[in-house]
Amino acid sequence: MAPDPTRVAVVGAGAVGLSVATVLARRGVEVTLYDRGDPGSGSTGRAAGLCYDAYVERTDARLAARSLERFRELDVLTERPYVWVARDGDDHAVAAIREHAGRMADRGRDVSIVDPAELADRLPALETDHLAVGAIAENAGYVDTDAFVAAMVDRARSAGVTLRTDCLVSLQADGELVTPDCSTSPDSIVLAAGPQTRTLAASAGHSLALGTYRAQALVTEGIAAAPPIFYDASERFYLRPADDGVLVGDGAHPYEGDPDEYDRTTDSTFLSDSLARLERTLGQSAAISRSWAGLCTATPDRDPLVGRCGPGLFVATGWHGHGFMRAPAVGERLAKQVLGGEGITHWDPTRFDGDEPVDLPAGIVD
Ligand SMILES: Cc1cc2nc3c(=O)[nH]c(=O)nc-3n(C[C@H](O)[C@H](O)[C@H](O)COP(=O)(O)OP(=O)(O)OC[C@H]3O[C@@H](n4cnc5c(N)ncnc54)[C@H](O)[C@@H]3O)c2cc1C
Repeated sequence: MAPDPTRVAVVGAGAVGLSVATVLARRGVEVTLYDRGDPGSGSTGRAAGLCYDAYVERTDARLAARSLERFRELDVLTERPYVWVARDGDDHAVAAIREHAGRMADRGRDVSIVDPAELADRLPALETDHLAVGAIAENAGYVDTDAFVAAMVDRARSAGVTLRTDCLVSLQADGELVTPDCSTSPDSIVLAAGPQTRTLAASAGHSLALGTYRAQALVTEGIAAAPPIFYDASERFYLRPADDGVLVGDGAHPYEGDPDEYDRTTDSTFLSDSLARLERTLGQSAAISRSWAGLCTATPDRDPLVGRCGPGLFVATGWHGHGFMRAPAVGERLAKQVLGGEGITHWDPTRFDGDEPVDLPAGIVD
């Protein structure tokens, strides 16, 4: 077995890179964390910050539950149940909610299936007239992603991580890491660079089966009644409280171009659809105060690519819009693997050759 690495470079100071770098540094590793911009300037700073442990798969549920604990420790989580619903006539979504919520509950998650009358009772802000069924996950909340990044930068620095911002990294075929002012060959490199992970890994000779899609969000001015954290599986949008207004987001918009060139603004259809959805869901209208788009990563089987893809080279990407809520625990697991422990077998990035097609996800939640 190779000796533990003493020098590790982590590329990407998003939620995942900050998490893995901090854990490694706390274990005594000399860690340099690089970002081409500021920490959180990738998808992390554009995320809605929804967090819950309502997953069907055991690994996801455990990592999400562990991450919720970490968010609580950092004091950045606003606790709020997560509610997801299907509308009348959408038999597919109704069946999926019943099946998935049932399996989550069987696995020990605090999740229950609720009918519209119970939903109306429990969440008076919701318009429940055309809802067929809902599910509620109690272990949930939302995080201000800027607050998380600020807290993690503090922790990373106190753990001894050297943070290099505004520092674009490239990799050579021999695994050497190159920055504008130096080149270095650390014992291990962790690529947590979001969509750019694919290009970086390719430079070192590793092909990743990774696709991208755009996701959009907006925040409104203040509204009268605070909403729950809510996902509409029939219409495929979500919302949550944001200050005294509402954050509304939707799912996948195909994007196959250069990850650096995607459109960071929202389209007019998204804005008008979101206001109509808000009206239908909460019976309230509100003015938009800001909106944005971000890039998400996807894989052929919808599981992320996390782990070793070659000697001394590790990757963490492919989150299907769920990377933020699992990041702290993924950071712990990946750090363990970098230090010689076992990885998450079914997230092994080498399970694909790298040329498989990546279908775009149909929505935020299955
Ligand atoms: C609108 C929207 C809403 C979302 N909502 C949620 C949500 O509610 N919950 C959830 O769990 N997830 C959500 N997501 C997904 C979430 O944002 C991502 O899964 C998560 O932030 C991924 O974190 P990361 O650290 O892997 O990547 P990123 O945050 O993208 O970090 C990668 C970093 O790498 C840096 N980088 C890239 N290339 C280089 C290079 N060559 N050299 C140096 N640095 C480099 C970038 O600058 C960036 O800072 C949402 C995404 C969007 C777009």
